[in-house]
Amino acid sequence: MQFDDDARLDTSEVQDVRGSRIPGGRATVGGIAGLITLLLGLFLGVGPDRLGLAEGTGQPVATVSALAQVQQSCRTGQDANTKDDCRVVAVVNSVQDYWDQEFERRSGTYTSSPTVFFGQRVGTACGSASTAVGPFYCPGDRKVSLDLGFFDELRTTFGASGGAFAQAYVVAHEYGHHVQDLMGTLSRSQDGRTGADSNAVKAELQADCYAGVWAHHATTTKDGSPGGR
Ligand SMILES: [Zn+2]
Repeated sequence: MQFDDDARLDTSEVQDVRGSRIPGGRATVGGIAGLITLLLGLFLGVGPDRLGLAEGTGQPVATVSALAQVQQSCRTGQDANTKDDCRVVAVVNSVQDYWDQEFERRSGTYTSSPTVFFGQRVGTACGSASTAVGPFYCPGDRKVSLDLGFFDELRTTFGASGGAFAQAYVVAHEYGHHVQDLMGTLSRSQDGRTGADSNAVKAELQADCYAGVWAHHATTTKDGSPGGR
Protein backbone atom coordinates (compact mmCIF):
# COMPACT_ATOMS: atom_id res chain seq x y z
CA MET A 1 0.00 0.00 0.00
CA GLN A 2 1.63 3.15 -1.23
CA PHE A 3 0.55 6.77 -1.37
CA ASP A 4 1.60 9.33 -3.91
CA ASP A 5 4.67 10.98 -2.34
CA ASP A 6 3.48 14.45 -3.34
CA ALA A 7 -0.11 14.09 -2.12
CA ARG A 8 -1.19 16.62 0.50
CA LEU A 9 -2.54 15.25 3.76
CA ASP A 10 -5.52 16.91 5.47
CA THR A 11 -4.69 16.71 9.17
CA SER A 12 -7.88 18.58 10.11
CA GLU A 13 -9.62 15.20 10.04
CA VAL A 14 -7.47 13.92 12.91
CA GLN A 15 -7.36 15.07 16.52
CA ASP A 16 -4.12 14.13 18.22
CA VAL A 17 -4.43 13.86 22.01
CA ARG A 18 -1.54 11.51 22.62
CA GLY A 19 0.48 12.51 25.62
CA SER A 20 3.77 11.32 24.29
CA ARG A 21 5.42 10.57 21.00
CA ILE A 22 4.79 7.15 19.50
CA PRO A 23 7.51 6.36 16.99
CA GLY A 24 6.25 5.68 13.49
CA GLY A 25 6.11 2.05 12.51
CA ARG A 26 7.76 0.38 9.60
CA ALA A 27 6.22 0.89 6.21
CA THR A 28 5.28 -2.47 4.84
CA VAL A 29 3.38 -3.49 1.78
CA GLY A 30 -0.02 -4.82 2.67
CA GLY A 31 -0.80 -8.45 2.04
CA ILE A 32 -3.93 -10.52 1.91
CA ALA A 33 -2.61 -12.89 4.57
CA GLY A 34 -2.75 -10.21 7.21
CA LEU A 35 -6.25 -9.26 6.20
CA ILE A 36 -7.42 -12.84 6.48
CA THR A 37 -5.83 -13.11 9.89
CA LEU A 38 -7.59 -9.94 10.92
CA LEU A 39 -10.92 -11.10 9.56
CA LEU A 40 -10.55 -14.41 11.37
CA GLY A 41 -9.86 -12.49 14.51
CA LEU A 42 -13.01 -10.45 14.00
CA PHE A 43 -15.14 -13.51 13.39
CA LEU A 44 -13.67 -15.25 16.41
CA GLY A 45 -14.69 -12.36 18.56
CA VAL A 46 -11.28 -10.95 19.30
CA GLY A 47 -11.81 -8.07 16.94
CA PRO A 48 -10.67 -4.58 17.68
CA ASP A 49 -13.79 -2.64 18.30
CA ARG A 50 -16.52 -2.66 20.85
CA LEU A 51 -19.61 -0.63 20.22
CA GLY A 52 -21.54 1.13 22.91
CA LEU A 53 -18.90 1.29 25.57
CA ALA A 54 -20.70 0.89 28.83
CA GLU A 55 -18.06 1.09 31.50
CA GLY A 56 -16.86 4.22 33.19
CA THR A 57 -17.51 7.89 32.69
CA GLY A 58 -14.10 9.08 33.85
CA GLN A 59 -12.34 12.11 32.54
CA PRO A 60 -9.92 11.76 29.66
CA VAL A 61 -6.42 11.19 30.90
CA ALA A 62 -4.78 11.94 27.59
CA THR A 63 -3.34 15.41 27.39
CA VAL A 64 -3.34 17.79 24.48
CA SER A 65 0.37 18.54 24.72
CA ALA A 66 1.02 16.76 21.47
CA LEU A 67 -1.90 18.43 19.75
CA ALA A 68 0.11 19.80 16.86
CA GLN A 69 2.26 16.71 16.46
CA VAL A 70 0.41 15.21 13.53
CA GLN A 71 -0.15 18.62 12.01
CA GLN A 72 3.59 19.18 12.01
CA SER A 73 4.89 15.80 10.95
CA CYS A 74 2.22 14.62 8.52
CA ARG A 75 2.15 16.82 5.46
CA THR A 76 2.62 14.65 2.38
CA GLY A 77 2.07 11.18 0.99
CA GLN A 78 5.75 10.55 1.59
CA ASP A 79 5.14 11.02 5.33
CA ALA A 80 2.21 8.60 5.03
CA ASN A 81 4.51 6.03 3.44
CA THR A 82 7.01 6.18 6.28
CA LYS A 83 5.09 6.80 9.52
CA ASP A 84 2.18 4.86 11.04
CA ASP A 85 0.36 7.94 12.31
CA CYS A 86 0.69 9.81 9.04
CA ARG A 87 -0.49 6.77 7.13
CA VAL A 88 -3.65 6.70 9.23
CA VAL A 89 -4.18 10.39 8.39
CA ALA A 90 -3.94 9.50 4.70
CA VAL A 91 -6.32 6.57 5.14
CA VAL A 92 -8.83 8.74 7.02
CA ASN A 93 -8.62 11.30 4.20
CA SER A 94 -9.13 8.62 1.57
CA VAL A 95 -12.00 6.84 3.33
CA GLN A 96 -13.91 10.05 4.03
CA ASP A 97 -13.31 11.38 0.54
CA TYR A 98 -14.76 8.17 -0.85
CA TRP A 99 -17.89 8.28 1.31
CA ASP A 100 -18.32 11.99 0.68
CA GLN A 101 -18.46 11.33 -3.05
CA GLU A 102 -20.62 8.26 -2.62
CA PHE A 103 -23.18 10.10 -0.49
CA GLU A 104 -23.26 12.98 -2.95
CA ARG A 105 -23.90 10.61 -5.83
CA ARG A 106 -26.94 9.35 -3.97
CA SER A 107 -28.14 12.86 -3.10
CA GLY A 108 -27.19 12.55 0.52
CA THR A 109 -24.90 14.60 2.68
CA TYR A 110 -21.85 13.06 4.28
CA THR A 111 -20.83 14.55 7.62
CA SER A 112 -17.12 14.29 8.29
CA SER A 113 -16.03 12.41 11.40
CA PRO A 114 -12.62 12.97 13.00
CA THR A 115 -10.30 10.23 14.17
CA VAL A 116 -8.87 10.83 17.63
CA PHE A 117 -5.35 9.52 18.27
CA PHE A 118 -5.03 8.76 21.95
CA GLY A 119 -2.55 7.17 24.28
CA GLN A 120 -3.64 4.81 27.08
CA ARG A 121 -7.01 6.40 27.80
CA VAL A 122 -9.57 8.64 26.14
CA GLY A 123 -12.88 10.17 27.20
CA THR A 124 -15.75 10.00 24.75
CA ALA A 125 -19.52 10.49 24.75
CA CYS A 126 -19.68 6.69 25.07
CA GLY A 127 -17.61 6.77 28.25
CA SER A 128 -13.95 6.45 29.06
CA ALA A 129 -11.97 3.88 27.10
CA SER A 130 -8.50 2.42 27.39
CA THR A 131 -6.14 1.01 24.81
CA ALA A 132 -7.38 -2.49 25.61
CA VAL A 133 -10.75 -1.67 24.03
CA GLY A 134 -9.15 -1.30 20.63
CA PRO A 135 -10.24 1.15 17.94
CA PHE A 136 -13.89 2.12 18.17
CA TYR A 137 -16.55 4.45 16.83
CA CYS A 138 -18.76 6.38 19.24
CA PRO A 139 -22.08 7.51 17.76
CA GLY A 140 -22.56 9.93 20.68
CA ASP A 141 -19.86 12.28 19.44
CA ARG A 142 -19.40 10.76 15.98
CA LYS A 143 -15.69 10.18 16.43
CA VAL A 144 -13.37 7.28 15.72
CA SER A 145 -10.88 6.71 18.55
CA LEU A 146 -7.63 4.93 18.00
CA ASP A 147 -4.54 4.17 20.05
CA LEU A 148 -1.83 3.52 17.49
CA GLY A 149 -0.32 1.04 19.94
CA PHE A 150 -3.14 -1.25 18.85
CA PHE A 151 -1.32 -1.82 15.56
CA ASP A 152 1.61 -3.31 17.47
CA GLU A 153 -0.88 -5.56 19.23
CA LEU A 154 -2.29 -6.61 15.86
CA ARG A 155 1.17 -7.79 14.90
CA THR A 156 2.23 -9.40 18.17
CA THR A 157 -0.99 -10.75 19.70
CA PHE A 158 -3.16 -11.42 16.68
CA GLY A 159 -0.24 -12.25 14.38
CA ALA A 160 -1.38 -9.94 11.60
CA SER A 161 1.34 -9.52 9.01
CA GLY A 162 -0.65 -7.43 6.60
CA GLY A 163 1.06 -4.27 7.78
CA ALA A 164 -0.24 -1.09 6.27
CA PHE A 165 -3.29 -2.61 4.65
CA ALA A 166 -4.46 -4.35 7.82
CA GLN A 167 -4.18 -1.01 9.62
CA ALA A 168 -6.10 0.79 6.88
CA TYR A 169 -8.78 -1.88 6.97
CA VAL A 170 -9.29 -1.38 10.70
CA VAL A 171 -9.73 2.37 10.18
CA ALA A 172 -12.08 1.85 7.23
CA HIS A 173 -14.17 -0.58 9.33
CA GLU A 174 -14.69 2.09 12.00
CA TYR A 175 -15.76 4.56 9.32
CA GLY A 176 -18.15 1.87 8.17
CA HIS A 177 -19.88 2.33 11.52
CA HIS A 178 -19.95 6.08 10.91
CA VAL A 179 -21.66 5.48 7.58
CA GLN A 180 -24.17 3.22 9.37
CA ASP A 181 -24.69 5.99 11.91
CA LEU A 182 -25.45 8.53 9.17
CA MET A 183 -27.82 6.08 7.50
CA GLY A 184 -29.63 5.24 10.72
CA THR A 185 -28.75 1.55 10.70
CA LEU A 186 -26.27 1.72 13.56
CA SER A 187 -28.85 2.68 16.18
CA ARG A 188 -31.10 -0.12 14.99
CA SER A 189 -28.24 -2.59 15.52
CA GLN A 190 -27.96 -1.61 19.19
CA ASP A 191 -31.11 -3.34 20.36
CA GLY A 192 -29.35 -5.26 23.10
CA ARG A 193 -29.71 -8.61 21.40
CA THR A 194 -26.69 -10.86 20.96
CA GLY A 195 -25.90 -14.00 19.05
CA ALA A 196 -24.87 -15.02 15.58
CA ASP A 197 -27.94 -13.64 13.82
CA SER A 198 -28.33 -10.48 15.90
CA ASN A 199 -28.34 -7.04 14.36
CA ALA A 200 -25.15 -6.26 16.27
CA VAL A 201 -23.29 -8.99 14.40
CA LYS A 202 -24.87 -7.91 11.12
CA ALA A 203 -23.63 -4.37 11.75
CA GLU A 204 -20.10 -5.70 12.22
CA LEU A 205 -20.25 -7.67 8.99
CA GLN A 206 -21.68 -4.69 7.12
CA ALA A 207 -18.89 -2.45 8.47
CA ASP A 208 -16.41 -4.99 7.13
CA CYS A 209 -18.23 -4.87 3.81
CA TYR A 210 -18.04 -1.07 3.74
CA ALA A 211 -14.32 -1.30 4.47
CA GLY A 212 -13.95 -3.66 1.54
CA VAL A 213 -15.89 -1.33 -0.73
CA TRP A 214 -13.53 1.50 0.16
CA ALA A 215 -10.47 -0.75 -0.31
CA HIS A 216 -11.69 -1.73 -3.75
CA HIS A 217 -12.21 1.91 -4.64
CA ALA A 218 -8.84 2.95 -3.20
CA THR A 219 -6.83 0.26 -4.94
CA THR A 220 -8.38 1.06 -8.29
CA THR A 221 -7.62 4.76 -8.01
CA LYS A 222 -4.81 5.41 -10.43
CA ASP A 223 -2.78 7.97 -8.54
CA GLY A 224 -3.32 6.36 -5.16
CA SER A 225 -3.48 9.78 -3.61
CA PRO A 226 -5.23 10.03 -0.26
CA GLY A 227 -8.60 11.50 -0.97
CA GLY A 228 -7.40 13.36 -4.03
CA ARG A 229 -6.47 16.27 -1.85
ZN1 LIG B 1 -17.05 -2.86 14.27
